[in-house]
Amino acid sequence: MCREQATNKGHSAMSTTTRTIQMVDLVGQYHHIKPEVDAALQRVLESAQFIGGPDVKGLEQDLSDYLGCRETIACANGTDALQIALMALDLKPGDEVITTAFTFVATVEVVGLLGITPVFADVHPDTFLIDPEDIRRKITPNTKAIVPVHLFGQCADMGVIMAIAKEHGLQVVEDNAQAIGAEVTMPDGTVRKAGTIGTIGTTSFFPSKNLGCYGDGGALFTNDERLARRIRQICNHGSEVRYYHDILGVNSRLDALQAAVLRIKLRHLDAYAAARNTAARAYDGAFAGNAHIRTPKRAEGTTHVFHQYTLRITNGHRDALKAHLEAQGIPAMVYYPVPLHLQKAYSTDRCRPGDLPVSEALAAEVLSLPMHTELDADQLAHITGSVLSFFSN
Ligand SMILES: *Cc1c(COP(=O)(O)O)cnc(C)c1O
Repeated sequence: MCREQATNKGHSAMSTTTRTIQMVDLVGQYHHIKPEVDAALQRVLESAQFIGGPDVKGLEQDLSDYLGCRETIACANGTDALQIALMALDLKPGDEVITTAFTFVATVEVVGLLGITPVFADVHPDTFLIDPEDIRRKITPNTKAIVPVHLFGQCADMGVIMAIAKEHGLQVVEDNAQAIGAEVTMPDGTVRKAGTIGTIGTTSFFPSKNLGCYGDGGALFTNDERLARRIRQICNHGSEVRYYHDILGVNSRLDALQAAVLRIKLRHLDAYAAARNTAARAYDGAFAGNAHIRTPKRAEGTTHVFHQYTLRITNGHRDALKAHLEAQGIPAMVYYPVPLHLQKAYSTDRCRPGDLPVSEALAAEVLSLPMHTELDADQLAHITGSVLSFFSN
């Protein structure tokens, strides 16, 4: 996600009376829950319990209840959550982790920071999700874990990924920064929430995420109590007893003001996902049948919570369409313009240009339209009309 974008947007919405179209409308969303949020923040201010305390504990319990997992551990942000997950699994330099190159950089950054080797698998062209068959091809004797990313709001193929992991004795860390609330139907028919299927799930509460706070935040999820205890210890400088440090840790905690906001927004999360789906259906309907637009496909066995609504523009004019929309006051973003194996910081001889053809093609074709909980019919009509007018000229 673009941080500048998420923070600047708020200002423009507040300073105008007509509703400008934004990628994410956090001010509009706040106004709907303002009395609840203001009261909760006031309560935290009066308690002066800013770190830890009942709101953080309460949020962890609320998330465990909502997701149906045993343990939730809050932390400072989604990047930390991924790093702490890999530390908790005791991954070491030389170990390999298979993940996607078509994602936000955080997923791979923490792998690099820990001296672990990222190995990239390609994605599906229609869902943008990691391709389990390519995961299979990338497994070596050094492979220790798979990190699927539930990109744009729907879940990677966890049935197959868990089967591969079981067969090869691998850990699975689900990067669920973009799909909190999505539901997966597993091959045995059980329905599970995204982020609770692998060994550990992680998420981000960055403001523009589906469950976003008013600053930075993140969390880890697991059904393994021993692992949960280790994760808590790592978050707290490797310490369980104050000033005694048994393992290497970090300082990563969620503050109580953020937890209080998240407890309120969690109650609205399913309604938010429904609003996003309504907008997605309006987009789908408007673009159906256009030869140059591929609408996002719903993957099988997962619901979609539409963190992003991402088109493929197949006539080679994606950037011109983006400029055309921006000229009409409609923001549009390219998530992501450069796959990670082509980034200077992450390129290796093992994965060269051309090696991940789908990720590379997507980087040139994808365009994400405004997607949030406050889009109304007029705004959607303006956006779809502007997109279609680009192709009719
Ligand atoms: C946002 C995001 C992260 C990182 O979360 P932060 O809270 O910004 O650190 C990690 N992975 C993915 C896929 C994300 O979208």
